[in-house]
Amino acid sequence: MPPEEQNGKQKTPAVTPEEPSINETAAWAASHSALERTLQAGIHGAPELRRDEKRYFLGEFRERVLKVLTKKQMAEPEIYEEIRVALTDPRADKLIIDGSTPDRHNDKYEHLAASLGKQSTTRRDSEFQGDLALVVVSDQAVDVPDEEIRIKTREEKLRDKGIPDLLIQAAGKKICLNCYSLIQEKAPEEKGHYRVMSMLDRLFGEKCPGHEG
Ligand SMILES: [Zn+2]
Repeated sequence: MPPEEQNGKQKTPAVTPEEPSINETAAWAASHSALERTLQAGIHGAPELRRDEKRYFLGEFRERVLKVLTKKQMAEPEIYEEIRVALTDPRADKLIIDGSTPDRHNDKYEHLAASLGKQSTTRRDSEFQGDLALVVVSDQAVDVPDEEIRIKTREEKLRDKGIPDLLIQAAGKKICLNCYSLIQEKAPEEKGHYRVMSMLDRLFGEKCPGHEG
């Protein structure tokens, strides 16, 4: 056996003082997995990564985000109950609103935050990119999974409950008794968004917008 190899075998591995402490390693592992998740979310270019993340989440790091609302959702007249729930989460620190969204849409969420004793901040930044109008953030890393930070739209929720698309789009209009019964049965919380056609409506030939024919 060559002497070099024997030497190698006899050598005991020395612990060098430069080796990172367990805490440092754990911190690195945590940030590394956060980076990986961001990569999986489809954002490219490692050095740009954190900056892109902050541009998208209204100036916040992804790992601090509890809940987000899109501009489209923000424009809906009703408050998303999920935001109220997120704001009452003990980990929630504040509500951040994109300053480019109209005040008439922001107001209801600012009032909501105030009524729950949470701070809300409006941020205006031309660097912001994406479809978000509002984020609820923690002051520390919470690492909420992607599918939990996004809120389903009214359409998505109703579709999940088996309401046909035409009937979902007929909100605010008069519908036939069959359609109304379907809403009552599968999504009773939506009843207020619909009215039933009267006998007279039907006599005048009004058609139910909730279905074809
Ligand atoms: Zn109908």
